[in-house]
Amino acid sequence: MIALKEAAYSECRFRVGAVLVKGGRVLGRSCNRRRNCPRTDFRHATFHAEEALLRTTDIPRRAVVYVARLGREGVPLLARPCPRCQRQLAARGISLAHYTTDTGSGTLRMS
Ligand SMILES: [Zn+2]
Repeated sequence: MIALKEAAYSECRFRVGAVLVKGGRVLGRSCNRRRNCPRTDFRHATFHAEEALLRTTDIPRRAVVYVARLGREGVPLLARPCPRCQRQLAARGISLAHYTTDTGSGTLRMS
């Protein structure tokens, strides 16, 4: 899963990756970032992977986001988008998110 690979790039304590997909094509990817990473501003301590993705990617209609979190032992953990990210995703027309859990995966519909 591409989002898991992206999470591996994160330098944060909680490593999360987000990937935007439409029609089987990857349109953008991002991991969560510390505020001193390049291409981020300094108003927030960290950007969630979903926020970083929205900042760097053009969002077409009906795109789907995949979010993955990688634990220290390299196993997937729960990566359900938080309420703030859910609002931001929904505001950009993304209504479907798939995310990893410690037992598999989950799906979230946003309105
Ligand atoms: Zn979030």
